[in-house]
Amino acid sequence: MSNYIDLPLSGLEEPLSEMEQYVQDTAHRFAVDVLRPAGAALDEMSAEESIAPDSPLWGILEKAAGLGLSVKAMLDMEPLERERIMMIASEELSWGECGLGSMVLVNQMPGLYAALAGNMEMVDFCDGKLGCWGITEPDHGSDMLDADGSVAAANGDYGRPNCVARIEGDKIVVNGQKSAWVSGSAVAQVCALYCHLEENGKTRPGVSLIVPLDLPGVTKGKALEKMGLRCLNQGEIYFDNVEVPLSHLLVGPDGYVDFVRHTLTEANAHVGNVAVGLARAAYEHAHAYAHERKQGGLPIIRHQSVRSRLFHMFRKVEAARALVRRVMTYNATAPEAALQGSIAAKVTATQTAFEVASDALQIFGGNGMTREYPMEKLLRDARAMLIADGCNEMLALKGGSLLVNPELL
Ligand SMILES: Cc1cc2nc3c(=O)[nH]c(=O)nc-3n(C[C@H](O)[C@H](O)[C@H](O)COP(=O)(O)OP(=O)(O)OC[C@H]3O[C@@H](n4cnc5c(N)ncnc54)[C@H](O)[C@@H]3O)c2cc1C
Repeated sequence: MSNYIDLPLSGLEEPLSEMEQYVQDTAHRFAVDVLRPAGAALDEMSAEESIAPDSPLWGILEKAAGLGLSVKAMLDMEPLERERIMMIASEELSWGECGLGSMVLVNQMPGLYAALAGNMEMVDFCDGKLGCWGITEPDHGSDMLDADGSVAAANGDYGRPNCVARIEGDKIVVNGQKSAWVSGSAVAQVCALYCHLEENGKTRPGVSLIVPLDLPGVTKGKALEKMGLRCLNQGEIYFDNVEVPLSHLLVGPDGYVDFVRHTLTEANAHVGNVAVGLARAAYEHAHAYAHERKQGGLPIIRHQSVRSRLFHMFRKVEAARALVRRVMTYNATAPEAALQGSIAAKVTATQTAFEVASDALQIFGGNGMTREYPMEKLLRDARAMLIADGCNEMLALKGGSLLVNPELL
């Protein structure tokens, strides 16, 4: 009799509700049937080919819309129910292909951030449109995510922002550009834009607004060629005197710093969740391969060091998932969501994904280095996640600054 115990997809977790189980099954099927094969093909294409009209990307986006994961569709749910549906679906999609899983998430960000700001008109406006989040700039990557300056060096000088907005009567006029890293920019129809405000020739942080990307004066840069997460297209967005109605404003300068904190709290936890999907995929590939590959006359799973390595991978995936789910549950139910919790989830899960993908590649031996097997791609994808949504070391400094209570010093 075998003592092998197979676990459900959700791992060491209490049973899911009927609805959650349905979402997990549906997302899992979509991941297997659509995302994995398309992801392997897109990864091989050039960045420009991957967004060309004949790219499989468009069919995927159309099918993904049918999953019913829009912010608006979920707003009627209780916060915890909504958060659990999102984390279960998103982990599964990212298990299938983490760049495309990220894209499904990113497409919802303008609606999500509009909801965070309590601007229901903009939630409605963004519904059914592909979205992106433009915050970082060529000269301000970490700087833009550190809106309260808690990580900036005391003698540092921010310098000129690359993108500024002016409020003129009933419109917001945007000029400048966002960095080449705006995820999903090539396909996006709306952008949740975070930038500095210009008043009387001076700039300060900042404003957040929803910008329709078909407005006169908006142009996009070329799709970025990069090492990992190649299925998630990225590129600049340029603004030349773009006039946006004032009703698109999510937050003005008085609430901006706080809003960036809330946005990062939301985004970091979700990125951690995506990383859990990637880590689980790497672990499962290695687990299967260890049963197939024979060396020394035995499947390599029979060698103790391979089993031990696999166990540590399993342990890390479960630990990362437990933390991510705990943080997302806390944030959905506590009176005030905790940025330090979301940073802990993002840093832990992305570091886990990187370590587990690297260990999985080791279990594949030489085959792991080749494009015949999925490991080298997973490792490239995992590497990108240590930088996406804030470099982990910068986030750790920020998390640390949130632990300081000046009154106790
Ligand atoms: C896959 C991916 C997806 C992304 N998606 C988006 C997106 O959708 N929208 C968007 O706007 N941006 C996006 N980004 C941009 C991302 O948020 C930035 O790359 C990230 O914040 C780091 O900025 P940077 O690349 O300019 O690096 P820099 O800020 O130049 O940092 C370079 C190095 O210096 C360190 N450093 C910087 N400042 C400090 C400091 N104060 N203290 C100590 N160390 C510091 C960093 O840790 C890092 O190691 C994405 C990036 C990637 C890789």
